[in-house]
Amino acid sequence: MSRAVWQSVLDEVELSVSRATYLTWFKNTELVELSDEELVVSVANIFAKRQFEVKFNDQVRDILKKQGVTPKNIRFIVQSTGAQKQTVSRETTVQQQPIAVAKPKRSSQPGSSLNPRYTFESFIVGSSNDLAYTACQAVSKNIGTKYNPLFLYGGVGLGKTHLIQAVGNEILRANPEKSVLYISSETFVNDFLESIRFKKKGFADKYRNVDVLIVDDMQFIAGKEKTQEEFFHTFNALHQANKQIIISSDKPPRSIPTLTERLRSRFEWGMSIDIQMPDFETRCAIVEAKAAMTDVELGRDVIEYLANNIKSNIRELEGALNQLLAYCEMRGIEPDIGTVEGLIGNIRQSRPQHISPKQIIDKTARHFQITPVEICSEKRDKHIVTPRQVAMYLLRSELHLSFPKIAQELGRKDHTTAIHSVEKIERAVKLDMLLREQVASIREKLYV
Ligand code: ADP
Ligand code: MG
Repeated sequence: MSRAVWQSVLDEVELSVSRATYLTWFKNTELVELSDEELVVSVANIFAKRQFEVKFNDQVRDILKKQGVTPKNIRFIVQSTGAQKQTVSRETTVQQQPIAVAKPKRSSQPGSSLNPRYTFESFIVGSSNDLAYTACQAVSKNIGTKYNPLFLYGGVGLGKTHLIQAVGNEILRANPEKSVLYISSETFVNDFLESIRFKKKGFADKYRNVDVLIVDDMQFIAGKEKTQEEFFHTFNALHQANKQIIISSDKPPRSIPTLTERLRSRFEWGMSIDIQMPDFETRCAIVEAKAAMTDVELGRDVIEYLANNIKSNIRELEGALNQLLAYCEMRGIEPDIGTVEGLIGNIRQSRPQHISPKQIIDKTARHFQITPVEICSEKRDKHIVTPRQVAMYLLRSELHLSFPKIAQELGRKDHTTAIHSVEKIERAVKLDMLLREQVASIREKLYV
């Protein structure tokens, strides 16, 4: 009986998500327990667990509710039988093809310049981007009222454009009558200059008569005072009318050079949130999901090889995967570890990125102005405990060491402290912006 409940959730999900999403995340799930208190579902691996917790939780809850099943708590656990994932074989994939229901692809609103590929569904959530993802989702459901403006910042190739366009696409999907305009700040600059030069009319209207204005790469407005002034007025007009404004930039508002003070303060009115470099888990999940979209199933070793060697930029990670897939298709071979090593080895040679546990400990110590010896000591002073926990966290996220190994690197016998420390920092970086920035800054230093 309870199995049937989960099966009907799966049936409904299958109709509403893409086939790749279904196969990657939902296919190998099973109901473990169902009571009034709790629904427990086993999922294939830790990557899947996070996608369920952050992305699919609400969807699952809604479908269950429609069926009159309303457990207080929904929990996702990782099935320990490691073989489970393998059941998504090429064969099942192929068999499914004719009957799978493709999600109706709505072309984006003409004129919005949104790319329909950038959706929430195709965005993989990890600890580096879950806050940004959640904020973007919230905005798509509360247009103009929740976080206005929403300001998203972070380095190149980390998913800013993807996420802010996903907001636009989602808003149009749920509210086709809304008008959404997506532009790069460069377009705004050029449009503005043209309107002055050729005395064109309609410039202000174009930007002020929308429900949602999404401006990508705001940093390009730096130094352009007249344009900033014009944008300031556009911003005010939209904001006063409760229209949603979404902005991305490579830096937080306070760090964009030559941004006028009044524009900076406007940008800080709503919610500013960062996207950081993806951790190993997320990189694996991205490779796996992207491969599944092209119907290729990669071995764990290949996935981990890619994730281990391309760390700081998702666009590059995607590029490397595409290169691998194209190469294998051309030669009619399987993408195995030998092939990927041969191909990616070249990339790796050009940018040496070997980091060792020792480097992590040293750089963390230096960042907090204590010594590596202190980090590895027994001292319990707070100014040493936090750096120690951060070091453990980074050993896990960057080198994905096992907990006993992490304990060992820090001169400890008991690995339960390592578990607690990693979990503690994982939680803390979600709440404590200062700590979050500190962790990001150490991470950056590791890869220079
Ligand atoms: P940015 O605007 O921050 O430079 P993009 O949004 O252009 O980065 O992302 C670069 C590429 O990586 C895009 O193809 C995007 O779809 C992909 N990408 C980035 N983050 C994710 C993610 N979390 N899940 C899936 N794809 C991602
Ligand atoms: Mg971008």
